[in-house]
Amino acid sequence: MCGIEAGKSLETYTQLLFEEADLHLKENEFKNLSDFSDRVDLVYNCITKLNTFKTEVAKHQDRKSNRESEMIRKQGNDLFLRQGNYLVALEYYTKSIAYAESGSTNLALAYANRSACLYERRYYKQCLEDIDRALSLDYPEKSKQKLLKRKASVETQKSKQKQVSYYNSPPVIKSKNPLIDCAEDSIEIQYNKKYGRHVIASRDIKIGEVLSAENSVCHVVHPESKYIHCHECLELCYNLIPCESCCSSLYCSEECRSKCYEGYHKYECQFHKILLSPLMVFIKLALIGMNDLKKIEADCPDNIHLFNSFKEIIKLEMNEENWNYINLCIPAIAASIAYYTLKENQEFTSKYDTDEDDCNIKKLLYKAYMINTFFPFNIKKIRYTPNYIESKRVGTALYAFTSFYNHSCVPNCEFFYYGSLIVTRAQAPIKKGEQVTISYGSYFYRTPKATRQEILKKTYFFNCDCKACTHNWPTIMDLPIGKDLSLWFILKVSQNIFDGTESNQKLQDELLTESKRLYYELEEDQPCQNLLRVQHMITEIYAYQASRDVEF
Ligand SMILES: [Zn+2]
Ligand SMILES: [Zn+2]
Ligand SMILES: [Zn+2]
Repeated sequence: MCGIEAGKSLETYTQLLFEEADLHLKENEFKNLSDFSDRVDLVYNCITKLNTFKTEVAKHQDRKSNRESEMIRKQGNDLFLRQGNYLVALEYYTKSIAYAESGSTNLALAYANRSACLYERRYYKQCLEDIDRALSLDYPEKSKQKLLKRKASVETQKSKQKQVSYYNSPPVIKSKNPLIDCAEDSIEIQYNKKYGRHVIASRDIKIGEVLSAENSVCHVVHPESKYIHCHECLELCYNLIPCESCCSSLYCSEECRSKCYEGYHKYECQFHKILLSPLMVFIKLALIGMNDLKKIEADCPDNIHLFNSFKEIIKLEMNEENWNYINLCIPAIAASIAYYTLKENQEFTSKYDTDEDDCNIKKLLYKAYMINTFFPFNIKKIRYTPNYIESKRVGTALYAFTSFYNHSCVPNCEFFYYGSLIVTRAQAPIKKGEQVTISYGSYFYRTPKATRQEILKKTYFFNCDCKACTHNWPTIMDLPIGKDLSLWFILKVSQNIFDGTESNQKLQDELLTESKRLYYELEEDQPCQNLLRVQHMITEIYAYQASRDVEF
């Protein structure tokens, strides 16, 4: 993160308001209210009286300011000139663009300066777009020559343009499941008391097979990536354009800007900064819900799952009976803050003006916040260097179908992001009738059983009974080595196979084939270290094909 986003988060405020309003005294009263909108009302009435609420939460701060824009631009200049840190300078210029008042000279200057970064890194198409944006605004006459010179130079070098893409084309569903629109027909949804809704294999599945490829129901950009990823489509973009009214939303194109505004941004534009954290995905979900609520009954039959719809995600089971009071109350505080802000928004109040709407938005905000605590997916991109691999957060998303996969400390699947598309692949052979599993973060070889069980119980309210938990498998250092790996495998794994060159692409393909062969050979030794090494290789190669952080 370039360190330009700071400030208190929504989480901090909800905790603060819980304490200040003495909400712990309201436990019985709160728990007796089964209707979610009544819970929000109770909390709303307590917290909106507080000074903290009036002075900090209710105050709008997200206004354009030329003064602020200029200050940020100068910080960008400093980075550009003295340190040659082009990517961070570019992020500052984009922030300066977001803060500049519509049509101002400041806006023109920020576009012009950003075009210099783009020029240096050979993003000529984007550079040209920014130069034209600057020239169409009130750009100072005395500096125009310099900008026109840059423009002329770009025209001659266009052929050396660098490409902006951060993942390969995603795999497609080959044999579509007739009941699950984002999945292969190799799986099906089942229900039982023990596992709730879960997914099983309806035929034998091989390692590497794609099981589902799902678009998010909704997503928001992460602060770490907000100046280089579109807030609507999450695509990588080095010359974002701002929302015309607020400083918080940026887009890759006019299409994304208007799609976002018309879709839901008109309701949240001008929100208080604390509602613009990754958590605000819950507000987006609630707003989608308001829009879809009327359509739900008229939707398709219940056994057909259209997964990028609100209808599916709102049905996710969260074992609410196991939540403690504070965990039940925090969503009501967050919902109250969001509700307060929405009620201040004319676009919102003119569209949703009945008592029923009022009740629904409170319910949906509350439920959506809970869903977001339980099923948030952190979209990441991975950076590969010769010495290390690190990941960067792109956004937070909610997925309805992928949330159906249950947890195992020895999962037979992993998921991979291609932008905001989530692709689930088998990372072990799965027998017909066997449950399809992913890991919710705990793997048996990394974390001892007691710690895993504690985390899973505390966060997801279940006792894990996967084979590692049932048979007390030790962590990696205490595992037997297992059958020998082939010499070829050991030799190739020691090379840097993730440098993006074509010969390494071939090597990856060969390694994938050999790893799959070895997996079947070592399978009967499970658990053992060598099987884990092979499985890691498979996962890493698939991960490399998905979202990765590219050099600017
Ligand atoms: Zn976009
Ligand atoms: Zn806005
Ligand atoms: Zn387990």
